Amino acid sequence: MTDKITANKVVTLAYTLRDDDGEIIDQSRDGSPLLYLHGARNIVPGLEEQLEGVAEGASITATVSPEKGYGPRIGEAQEVPRNLFPADAELAAGMQVVAHDDQGRQIPFFITGITEDKITVDPNHPLAGETLPCEVTVESLREASDEESEHGHPHGPGGHPH
Ligand code: ZN
Repeated sequence: MTDKITANKVVTLAYTLRDDDGEIIDQSRDGSPLLYLHGARNIVPGLEEQLEGVAEGASITATVSPEKGYGPRIGEAQEVPRNLFPADAELAAGMQVVAHDDQGRQIPFFITGITEDKITVDPNHPLAGETLPCEVTVESLREASDEESEHGHPHGPGGHPH
């Protein structure tokens, strides 16, 4: 009998994530598939839910809504002076940066534009607010070890690095 994805299985996935226009945003590479522990929220909830019960070897196209994916958009991008960043910081569009507020709380944001004296920062994950079709193939399945269940993530090649 073919094995199916249920809680406490370690799942190896090959995946291709596309945007609304069908352009590839992210993809697992040959030889480095994604490993996760099912039921432990290692992956976005929308994808995990749709993988429940899928058989080993099967492929599905999961549709991940913002609510169950990278979240709704939470604000607008804004321009800030370049000198708010350390002079020697190597900044690039697409980079994620973490700032801290007065209370030391972390505020993650993304750099979306750079000019000589201004940086455009966006509080949204680049995929926030998007409904994304994700093609996934279940390459293999195995029972999680007791230690993996306890930790809530897989070990071994491709697993949690510790
Ligand atoms: Zn561990």
